[in-house]
Amino acid sequence: MACQRRSLVTGHEQHIVRFPIPRLGPYPDRPRAYPPGQPPHLPIRPLWMCRACGRPWPCAEARLLLRVEYDSNPIDLAIYLSGLYHEATHDLFRLNPHDGPTPRDLFERFVAWGPYRRGIVAPPAEN
Ligand SMILES: [Zn+2]
Repeated sequence: MACQRRSLVTGHEQHIVRFPIPRLGPYPDRPRAYPPGQPPHLPIRPLWMCRACGRPWPCAEARLLLRVEYDSNPIDLAIYLSGLYHEATHDLFRLNPHDGPTPRDLFERFVAWGPYRRGIVAPPAEN
C-alpha cells in the first residue's frame, strides 16, 4: 500500500498514522489566481480546504472563478468537477471513514452547483 507513515508516540504506545497520497486523478489547477499575483483558490489535498481562504473547496470564490473560466466550455467544467469529486471522495473517506461527509454531501459540494444536467421530468409527487 502506498502510504506515507508517520510515528506518533503517546504514553507507552506507538501509533502509526497513515496519510493517503493523492492519486492520479485530475490535478486541481483551476481556477487560476485572480487578480493575478493573489493566492489562487485551489484545494489543499487531502483535506480539500481552500489554500487561499481556508473554507471547504470549492469555496464561493473558486466557484465564481470556475464559472467565468469555463464560461464557453461548461462540459469541460462538469468533467473537471466530476473528476475532483471522485478524488475528494477517496481522500476524505480515507481520512475519516466513520463520520466524514456522505457521498451525497460531496456530490452537492463538488458537482451539483456546476453545469450538472438535471432530469427534464420532475420525479412524481408522493400522495
Ligand atoms: Zn477560497
